[in-house]
Amino acid sequence: MRAVVHHGGFDVRVEHRADPSLREPTDAVVRVLLSCICGSDLWPYRRPGERDGGPGPIGHEFLGVVEEVGADVVTVRPGDVVIAPFVWSDGTCPHCLAGVHTSCVHGGIWGRDGADGGQGEAVRVPWADGTLVVAPVAPDDERLPALLTLSDVMGTGHHAALAAGVGPGSTVAVIGDGAVGLCGVLAAHRLGAERILLLGRHEDRIAVGRGFGATDVVAERGDDAVARVLELTDGLGVAHVMECVGMQSSWDAAIAIARPGGTVGYVGVPAGVTTGLPLGTMFGRNVAVRGGVAPVRAYLPELLADVLAGVIDPSPVFDLERSLGDAPAGYAAMDERRAIKVLLRP
Ligand SMILES: [Zn+2]
Repeated sequence: MRAVVHHGGFDVRVEHRADPSLREPTDAVVRVLLSCICGSDLWPYRRPGERDGGPGPIGHEFLGVVEEVGADVVTVRPGDVVIAPFVWSDGTCPHCLAGVHTSCVHGGIWGRDGADGGQGEAVRVPWADGTLVVAPVAPDDERLPALLTLSDVMGTGHHAALAAGVGPGSTVAVIGDGAVGLCGVLAAHRLGAERILLLGRHEDRIAVGRGFGATDVVAERGDDAVARVLELTDGLGVAHVMECVGMQSSWDAAIAIARPGGTVGYVGVPAGVTTGLPLGTMFGRNVAVRGGVAPVRAYLPELLADVLAGVIDPSPVFDLERSLGDAPAGYAAMDERRAIKVLLRP
C-alpha cells in the first residue's frame, strides 16, 4: 500500500509500505476512505533534522471501510464504515470506563511504535471493538468529511467547551482560529452558548467561525485583545474561556480575560508555554483551569448522531483537498497557512 512517511524536517514522502494484516484476534484492518493533516502533524514536520527513530508513518485522523476482523471482534464487521479516534483504546479498562480513553492501559497513537499511520491506504487497528465507531452510512456518503472531524478536531473542540463549563446562555471566548478553535466555536454553539467571542485574525478562518456561531470577533493581539474582550463584556471578563492554541501568549490572554469565578478549558497542546500559569492571579480571582488531551472516543457517539441528524456540520474546516499522492503539497499548504485543514483522499 501507499502511505505518507515522515523523514524529518519539512520532509514527508508517499512511499510503499507493507499491507496491514491482522496480528491479534482483537484487531481489524481498515481500508482508508479519507484522512487529513492535523495542526499537530506540523510540529514534527517543522522540527529540523531527521525524525527520531528514523523515517516512519504519520497521521492520526482517518475513517474507512472494515476489510477484515480478528476472531474476537464483535462490534464491527467487514463492509462497515468506521471512524477511528486519534488514539486507540480497549474500551474496558478503568480509565476507558471513566471516559478518559486517552489514558487507556492498552492505548496508543497511530504512526508510533510500529503502528500504521492514518495517512495511508490501510491501517491495522488494535482493539477494534473499543476503538472504532460504526457510522451507518455508505462509503460514498457526502457527509464523510464532516464525520472525519469526529476523529479529532470536533471532539477536541467539544472537550474544550465541556472543560470550560459551557452551557445554555453562556458567554464564551474561544482563543485560536485553527481547526480546533473553530470546532470549539461550533461545540459551544451546540451546547447553547449565547455569546461566542472568537479571538483570531485570519479572514478565511473568521468566516468559518462566524458560520459556526461566533457572535463577536477579536482580531487584536496581546494586551489589545484583552482590552477589547473586557470592553465587549462591560469590564467583567468571560466566564467560559476555551484555550485552543497552547502558547504562552494564548495562556496569558486566557487567564487575563477570565472573569472572577470563571473557568479556562484547554485543549491546545502546551507546546509553547514557557513561563507557566500565574497561580497568584488565578487564586485571587478564583479562575479554574481544566482540560487536556481530548478523549474523543467518549464523545463520538453523540457527535456522530448530531452530524447525521444535520444538527452540526463541521466540514467547512476542510478548505483544501489533495490526493494521498499529493500529501507533501498538503503539508506545505498547511505549514504556510494557505489552508486551515487539508483532506487527503487515497
Ligand atoms: Zn482502556
